[in-house]
Amino acid sequence: MNFFIFTLGCKVNSCDSNEVYSRLVSRGFNFTSPEEAEVIIVNSCAVTSESVRKTRQNINKFRKINKKAFIALIGCASILEQFTKNRNLDLISNKDEIVDKIIIKFNLENKQIDNKFLIVSGEKTRAFIKIEDGCENFCSYCIIPFTRGKIKSKPIEEIEFECKKIHELGFKEIVLTGINLGKYGKDINSNLLKAIEVVRKFFKRIRLSSLEPDVIDKNFIDNISCFEEICPHFHLSLQSGSDKILRLMNRKYDSEFYLNLIDNIRNKFKDVTFATDLITGFPGENDEDFENSVDIIKKARFIKVNVFPFSPRPFTYAENLKQIDSEIKKQRTKYAIELSDCVSKKEISTFFGKEFEVLFETKKGFYYSGYSRNYIKINFESSENLCGKIKKLIFFPDLY
Ligand code: SF4
Repeated sequence: MNFFIFTLGCKVNSCDSNEVYSRLVSRGFNFTSPEEAEVIIVNSCAVTSESVRKTRQNINKFRKINKKAFIALIGCASILEQFTKNRNLDLISNKDEIVDKIIIKFNLENKQIDNKFLIVSGEKTRAFIKIEDGCENFCSYCIIPFTRGKIKSKPIEEIEFECKKIHELGFKEIVLTGINLGKYGKDINSNLLKAIEVVRKFFKRIRLSSLEPDVIDKNFIDNISCFEEICPHFHLSLQSGSDKILRLMNRKYDSEFYLNLIDNIRNKFKDVTFATDLITGFPGENDEDFENSVDIIKKARFIKVNVFPFSPRPFTYAENLKQIDSEIKKQRTKYAIELSDCVSKKEISTFFGKEFEVLFETKKGFYYSGYSRNYIKINFESSENLCGKIKKLIFFPDLY
């Protein structure tokens, strides 16, 4: 049987899709194009209204190009009422049950070749491994705790098994991902440090995906700063620079805590860089609150800020708060993006002349692209095939 899987949203969703993909392939399914697929799975995202719109748009597109396909929806948007009524969908399921449901639906033999190993798609340079799912923080704007539920951590032995396999496939770098990664282990009497200890056995370049600031303590920073495998780039979700708005968002830190955390990490990691997420136009955000966000972007010197205009999500507390004018939201979003681009360029320029170890991933024309350990994208002209290779370079403006 032929199938196609389409993924929207975050890296955690990509990992989930890889898992469903490998479970289907291990049962004899063939991956194909959406036009030829008998089964199309849409792995959805509900984190913004825009991602829900894209989910809906893609379901409709797949139905248009393939009238006979069995179309199934998994992922965060699948709890939304508008999809339960969508006539282009044949099935809504959670990702853990989707494979069994398809097998039952088509009356197939449930033969399993190998269920333990996750196939990792893409170039064999950087692999993503999801070690945690779920979140119990209930930030007042976020639908995720309703869609993904409580924290579920992958047992250490499974992480070890998957890392070994991924390493054998030739991957040079691994990214540990999770919805609330810093809470890894809470449900299984373990913690992120223990998971990292295991991953270190296999990889010399380890990245941590987005972390919630409140879960990072001094002990954690002190410990990971001694691990040379940890790449010095941290994505610490900020969301707002205003303490009033952070309280309304039910975030568990204030701006001072955040900036101290950045300073502490800077003091421990050489050439460290930071990225973050920022929401503009949260209900109640006035000019002064937005100025506080602007201020923190400058002080933290991020190399990347993902700016999202606030969009009310169903089930959340913030859905019922008085919304601010959409034109103001637009202006603040534009300003925050432009400012963060300037801040990023300035910060990156401080590394000119330094030696970077770059893992090259792709080729375009004569140029190879890859990332330094501190996650600065490098473009380098070479006659030698650099894909999948690590090369030391002196970082200059023409490489960026
Ligand atoms: S920490 Fe907050 S924003 Fe992140 S997934 Fe949990 S509830 Fe959502």
